[in-house]
Amino acid sequence: MLALSPYRSARDEFEGEASVFLDANENPFNSDYNRYPDPHQRQLKQALTTVKGVSGNQIFLGNGSDEAIDLLFRIFCEPGRDTVIIPQPTYGMYQVSAAINNITVAAPRLTTAFDIDVHATLAAANGQAKMLFLCSPNNPSGNLLSREKIIELLNAFNGIVVIDEAYIDFAPEHSFVPDLAHYRNLVVLQTLSKAWGLAGLRLGMAFAHRDIIELLNKVKPPYNINTLTQQVVWQQLHQPEEMQQHVQLLIAERQRLVRELQSVSCVRRVYPSQANFLLVKMNDARSIYQQLVKQGIVVRDRSNVILCDNCLRITIGTPEENNQLLSRLLHL
Ligand SMILES: *Cc1c(COP(=O)(O)O)cnc(C)c1O
Repeated sequence: MLALSPYRSARDEFEGEASVFLDANENPFNSDYNRYPDPHQRQLKQALTTVKGVSGNQIFLGNGSDEAIDLLFRIFCEPGRDTVIIPQPTYGMYQVSAAINNITVAAPRLTTAFDIDVHATLAAANGQAKMLFLCSPNNPSGNLLSREKIIELLNAFNGIVVIDEAYIDFAPEHSFVPDLAHYRNLVVLQTLSKAWGLAGLRLGMAFAHRDIIELLNKVKPPYNINTLTQQVVWQQLHQPEEMQQHVQLLIAERQRLVRELQSVSCVRRVYPSQANFLLVKMNDARSIYQQLVKQGIVVRDRSNVILCDNCLRITIGTPEENNQLLSRLLHL
């Protein structure tokens, strides 16, 4: 991987100012989107350096976080040989990506409070694992992992530690991005899909030491972030007020839903959440899921997931949507 020479696009070969571009076999007509996008997303990264407090060479941008996850497997793992550690339950994409890349998964459990079991995590794969995935706040449970335990693992684990912070903007804890200076084996994933409300644009971010970012950039397809996404995200990053308002509203709605769900008779337990969803243990999750679907309300049935017996995962919606959900649940 270190020896790989990446594809060089026309935009890589020539970077200066010019007025006649006859180098990339583009069509000169239809002028809004006829040119290839910037393969290095320079303006977008410039905007992100301000928002995230990192330098441009510590940022990788992918077609969703999912692209970054896939590339990390392809860079750091040997198919058919290597193992990664994915404490369960968590986001399913790590495991799918491991399977696609023919990588073995060691799956220690989180504790019953969905926090890290440091001993079990380090004991998995006998110290031979290449990567460790931690998701904080964790999906589907919603809780933050303990910061002290994450730091213990960052110090003790002999491989890449990926911390997925897809939901960090809904949480009171600060990001691990400022800790990149101390840990060369740390990769922090974030996304525009949740707090920023831009899931349809597909923009995921990986923050890491510049050596890791360089590898990600070598392996990615040259034009992985399209022009429209680069433009719209750039504009959004310059007006964060709307995002911040929506996040505050969703947090307030989360707190209201926690309170109100506790007095619903089919609800057995609402797990603490620092994300934009709640894990809720029901009397009979399968049947409640189906009754809600009949009324046009779709939640996520997680009852087959380890430690999530009889649990539904409910995304926080608008106040009106949350009211609809509550009134349906009260009348079941
Ligand atoms: C939603 C989510 C993502 C976002 O993935 P994108 O591909 O960026 O949309 C990443 N990680 C977790 C844990 C998620 O729940």
